[in-house]
Amino acid sequence: MRRPIVAGNWKMYTRSADAHILATAVRNSVMNLEGIEVIICPPALWVSEVLAVVGRGGKIELGVQNMYFEAEGAYTGEISPLMVRDVAKYVIIGHSERRAYFGENNLDVNEKVLAALRSGLVPIICVGERKREGLPKEPRYQLEEALHRVPKKHYRDVIVAYEPVWAIGTGENAEPEYVAKVVSYLREVGLADTPVLYGGSVNSKNVEGYARRPEIDGLLVGSASVRAAEFASICQTWAKEKIFKA
Ligand code: PEP
Repeated sequence: MRRPIVAGNWKMYTRSADAHILATAVRNSVMNLEGIEVIICPPALWVSEVLAVVGRGGKIELGVQNMYFEAEGAYTGEISPLMVRDVAKYVIIGHSERRAYFGENNLDVNEKVLAALRSGLVPIICVGERKREGLPKEPRYQLEEALHRVPKKHYRDVIVAYEPVWAIGTGENAEPEYVAKVVSYLREVGLADTPVLYGGSVNSKNVEGYARRPEIDGLLVGSASVRAAEFASICQTWAKEKIFKA
């Protein structure tokens, strides 16, 4: 179901004590915000610890940054959908860093999306083009592949994050008009009821441009999500603008 969402991907940042402090600061600064869902995705090792800080059923939901698609087995070093289910509701799948550094391809992404849905998790499916182009075909193809064998009735149970690779961690955020155009193009795959987020160098200074575009339901925030005040400011702007539009 489409709804305003701000998700933070902490990537491989924070030690245990930092995670505790950051989660506490985020919890305190977003607890009174109305009308948006806030998701944080810490490193998997810290999810239980962060859960103890934010609590179940509170303002903040938790996610992980990756998982394997098998339910259990001899897969050293991996975490399974069932393990994730015990502590979190969301899982980021197919992040461009997973694709670039760990060889994840569209087939892996599809298996993981199917496994997430089977286990009652909400996959946050990341797609995005590597190079700037007119209306990019790459994210649309990645999305179609990610949703292969997913019954159309489940499209409302996933989240899509449009993240142009050239905008991730570069400070070169994509213009809101351009993002809105690509998001509409992605929706043609059948995403009328699916939340679509934008990710790529979002910060407290450029967030408003995205918040004003009705095509964009939310954000996936990387670097800025490990700075509590910055992340809080992004969430506050999103809540204010999206409520204003409602
Ligand atoms: C991300 O990693 O998903 C991301 C959007 O990173 P950043 O905000 O740092 O560009």
